[in-house]
Amino acid sequence: MIGLGPGDPRYLTPDADEALRAAEAVYGYSSYLARVPTRRHQVHYPSDNREEAARAAAALDHAARGGNVAIVSGGDPGVFAMAAAVCEAIESGPEAWRALDVAFVPGITAMLAVAACIGAPLGHDFCALSLSDNLKPWELIERRLDAAASAGFVIALYNPVSRARPRQFGNALTRLRQHLPASTPVVFGRAVGRPDERVEVTTLDAADAKNADMATLVIVGSRETRVIARPGKSPLVYTPRATPGAAVEVSA
Ligand code: SAH
Repeated sequence: MIGLGPGDPRYLTPDADEALRAAEAVYGYSSYLARVPTRRHQVHYPSDNREEAARAAAALDHAARGGNVAIVSGGDPGVFAMAAAVCEAIESGPEAWRALDVAFVPGITAMLAVAACIGAPLGHDFCALSLSDNLKPWELIERRLDAAASAGFVIALYNPVSRARPRQFGNALTRLRQHLPASTPVVFGRAVGRPDERVEVTTLDAADAKNADMATLVIVGSRETRVIARPGKSPLVYTPRATPGAAVEVSA
């Protein structure tokens, strides 16, 4: 399981690059696979975004027949991606799959790439939530949004929208406005690390759901998150390490 990072090859770790070069077969969602250069003696098996279980089974089957098989994910394979799908398949699949050597090669996940574009919004306690209700009920997502916002977490939102779910991100913003001040900083990071990268800093009251698409990661600040305006430069967004009411840590 190999993480490709958010896009640009310079975000691919040397470890991931080495693992990719060694693979005889590479499985993945077609648009992620398109980022992997085709090498001699290496066969690519692209599949659709939604076919994660079938892709995991096909790759494990291939490995069980003796192949050196890579499965690629954008960002990190363990964050809303293929590594969990592969573990699910191993747990419920044939005994032979448990005997396979498996390795998880981490990648830079979208929330870290977006955060690095604008400062340190994840500088203190944060959580990550996928807004996709393909694999969980929307009511559960609402409960988690309520809990995360009221507990003071900065929230990274993956999968804010899809063609099948055009309204959910708008609903999520409405929900968050019930817990957080209108001035709460919100960051939209789109296609970060790719040529069409776009990063926008706004506030919770001004945040427009239409500005997010499937390639967007949204960071909603906490009550502590701040914006530093800078002359002639883009603003910095950060969440201070100390929270009011907390004892100040003194480092040596
Ligand atoms: N495993 C991936 C996440 C897959 S879920 C990772 O670790 O990053 C897909 C979601 O990730 C997208 O809907 C979007 O919210 C986010 N995403 C992936 N790549 C991105 C990028 N380059 N810029 C901004 N968001 C991205």
